[in-house]
Amino acid sequence: HIGLVWFRHDLRVVDNTALIKASEKCNRLVALYTPTPMQWHEHNVSPMQANLIERRLIVLKEQLKQLNIPLIMVEVPDFNSLPQVILELVGELNIKHVFCNKQYEWNENKRDSQVAQLLANNMVRFTSFDDSCVIPPLKVLTKKGEAFKVFTPFKREWLNLFRHQSQQSARPYPVPEPLDAPPLEVEQLDNQKYQHSGRIKLTYPFAETMLWPVDEEAIRQRLVTFCIEKAADYHQNRDIPSIDGTSCLSPYLALGMLSPRQCIAALMAEYPECLEYPDEGAFTWLNEIIWREFYRHLMVAFPKLSRNQPFQPWTSKVPWAHSEDHLRAWQQGRTGFPIVDAAMRQLLATGWMHNRLRMITASFFTKDLLLHWHIGEQWFMSHLIDGDLASNNGGWQWAASTGTDAQPYFRVFNPTTQGERFDPKGEFIRTWVHELKDVPDKYIHQPHNWPQAETLDYPKPIVDHKAARLMAIDVFKKAKGEA
Ligand code: FAD
Repeated sequence: HIGLVWFRHDLRVVDNTALIKASEKCNRLVALYTPTPMQWHEHNVSPMQANLIERRLIVLKEQLKQLNIPLIMVEVPDFNSLPQVILELVGELNIKHVFCNKQYEWNENKRDSQVAQLLANNMVRFTSFDDSCVIPPLKVLTKKGEAFKVFTPFKREWLNLFRHQSQQSARPYPVPEPLDAPPLEVEQLDNQKYQHSGRIKLTYPFAETMLWPVDEEAIRQRLVTFCIEKAADYHQNRDIPSIDGTSCLSPYLALGMLSPRQCIAALMAEYPECLEYPDEGAFTWLNEIIWREFYRHLMVAFPKLSRNQPFQPWTSKVPWAHSEDHLRAWQQGRTGFPIVDAAMRQLLATGWMHNRLRMITASFFTKDLLLHWHIGEQWFMSHLIDGDLASNNGGWQWAASTGTDAQPYFRVFNPTTQGERFDPKGEFIRTWVHELKDVPDKYIHQPHNWPQAETLDYPKPIVDHKAARLMAIDVFKKAKGEA
């Protein structure tokens, strides 16, 4: 019979659980993508991420065509309008079964339940699969059957399960075969409503993303090159923003252009014994993939995380500051702290930011400026090309000390010493803060102390870190009732 595969953040054909299962069950398939521009605005989807999606859909359409599966795109304003639209489409094409991969966020989950209900009322099956994690949420549990709240024991149990699982699966990841039956005729559908021919175009603000290739081979090459050339030194290089030492695969993982299983398979192909060497580069990289899983699992176990709530309830008592000037200075990279400013400018220019810098800028925002982490989280989301609710929220709540297994509130990053440690010669700073290119190394982290500082068109530090640190600790201490 005819099935429909509903693509969301799983924009690939390789190792796509829903697609593989659907092609086993049905002899004819249609693929659907449903952009929801109003919802995206509400969720702060960045123009760069939307552009990456658009470019990838063009590739996906071609790949699906090779499998005899036409791709239809239906743009609707928001999730509320989706159930009815999908019901109409399945009616027009006589579809009996809808397949998709789960999205774990609150609104997405609610949307899927509504679609499933409406379809069930009309005798159409709806099946969703765990796909975006190596080990599905709610499967990595404590002995008491509860979700882990701390990363290290989570990782230990995750690795136990992973060892067990990888012994069972001989093939690293499956690739679907073309369907035998000819592609379903979709030409009779109204092309205005159900776009099936012509160039894919989304209605969303535009931002250029050509630095990020979207074709299968280029993404695979990036993964394999990382594993061959960079994974070995990852543990040494991953904290140095001036070194191209991380994989830069996050935009692909966030949109499901690549699965974490593909990442691990490529890593294990180079380092089959990496689980035995936890201090080395390859394992350190695997560790980051496990962090990604941890945040996704947390979001399922604690749905409040996708609803703007802090993990630690006491932190809602923190009296956050309100300063438009500070906010703007941080957003535009004009805080007078060179490492923070370089990072924020990298974000504006490229939509990507190095992990160490995400930690430094988020800590500066929530501790030195004492601004509410929601605001920083939103700014990141609306500019990141790899925006991902679970990882972004996890990262922000970690930095703000509001999350599970977060940075303790009394351990506040010093933005100057962080710069000295991770960008000692100021190479990264000079790449992004051009005003500082002639400042000698000795002053690059505190240019206001350079005897020729007067000549610079660069702000003095907008806060005194020492005083701001004490203030933040005091405020958190009182909120926790420890003062
Ligand atoms: P690599 O170092 O090569 O790591 C490989 C992959 O592991 C990454 O692509 C990513 O999928 C995952 N990963 C790595 N570090 C982390 C981490 N700390 N938490 C969760 N997953 C991780 N990551 C996002 O994908 N989207 C976000 O919106 C996001 N927001 C963040 C916000 C803050 C405040 C912080 C501190 C971190 C955030 N991260 C986010 C995590 C991390 O910074 C990025 O995943 C990483 O910098 C991406 O670069 P890479 O692909 O070169 O990573």
